[in-house]
Amino acid sequence: MDADRVLADMRELADLTGGPDGARRVCWTDEWTRAREFLRSRLDELPVEVSVDAAGNLWADLPGEGDGFVIVGSHVDSVPAGGWLDGTLGVFSAVEALRAQAGDAERPAVGLRLVDWADEEGARFGRSLFGSSACAGTLEVDEVRDLRDRDGERLEDVVARYEVDLARVHESGAQLRGARAYIEMHIEQGPVLEGLGEPAATVLGTCGVERHVAVFTGRAAHAGATPMAHRRDSFAATAQAALAIREIGFRHDGVCTVGGATSEPGVVTAVAGRTEMLLDQRHLDPGALAAMLAEARDACEQAASEHGCEVELKHLWSIPPIPFDDRLIGFAKRAVVEAGGKETAIPSGPLHDAAEMARLIPTVMLFSSSSPPVSHTKEEDTPEADLRVAIDAYGRTVEATLASAAAGELPPRE
Ligand SMILES: [Zn+2]
Repeated sequence: MDADRVLADMRELADLTGGPDGARRVCWTDEWTRAREFLRSRLDELPVEVSVDAAGNLWADLPGEGDGFVIVGSHVDSVPAGGWLDGTLGVFSAVEALRAQAGDAERPAVGLRLVDWADEEGARFGRSLFGSSACAGTLEVDEVRDLRDRDGERLEDVVARYEVDLARVHESGAQLRGARAYIEMHIEQGPVLEGLGEPAATVLGTCGVERHVAVFTGRAAHAGATPMAHRRDSFAATAQAALAIREIGFRHDGVCTVGGATSEPGVVTAVAGRTEMLLDQRHLDPGALAAMLAEARDACEQAASEHGCEVELKHLWSIPPIPFDDRLIGFAKRAVVEAGGKETAIPSGPLHDAAEMARLIPTVMLFSSSSPPVSHTKEEDTPEADLRVAIDAYGRTVEATLASAAAGELPPRE
């Protein structure tokens, strides 16, 4: 693996589809098409067969000696003003893995296939992991058909312009016939590795997510005429619950976020009669996630009762924790150490296409550090030295996985 080529590709794409406001590669737009054309131009230099499947995912196939193939990839799409590394690090590291294997005198032990998933970000229609969930069979077509973008355009109509027939997207699943493993590299998008002073790490899996809206109902009342002891203040109950929920996150070593609250009537002269509070909780351990949710529910009820209010928790969305494959985690850990990092392995709070693959085939991810520890913004960055370690570790993980497949481990998926 030549890290210089990965960095050069990513910088060239950033020049092509970025600018002072950040990356502009929102899926199902002309600029996404331009990013894909750039990816194709790189793949055209290699002895690979390129195709696009029924869900709009792009595949590049390098045949190997043995049966089946290892999949490497990520996504070139971005949020509207995104960073230069989110998704692209995984895609262009995968291109380099193909290059490295294609440059060898011998064919790889088993095939190597690159994938660029369509619409990982969900930036236009709000449904992330579109292509990978279609491939994994978890995309509910009827739930996304009528999603509309800011201009009122329907998802089904827009994807049709890119030759994606929503009724057929699950045919993408056939791409996984013969798949032995899936490996994805990504930037961490958070502060953990920067805090540890480590360039890269292995990812244990993606955290399970529980999303709810807690509706606190009290009584709207005049801010001047209602003495403190006579109030049923839904905002005060929400504030108390939010602080208690923060402690739940600390206690379980998970993350709990109250991302916002909206009160009615929401004027300066009234006690809030009704407040809706947004709650997101994440953990890699399913038991801990369930406990965090139960404790959040208790905290809401406790706060409601102390303020003379009622509370109801409405379910918005959830996904269970998705652990990655132990054998591949072992390969990745060794690779990171050999590349100059440590044995550190952390869960991913954000979801990734790898979570969809992990449902079906042995999967692992590697993270490079993020510094500053932010993403989905033009400030997103990683020190070049850290990127080099991560790219090296990724190449070693791919090598170890190909060798393992050649040795008869990681059987091809039927
Ligand atoms: Zn991403």
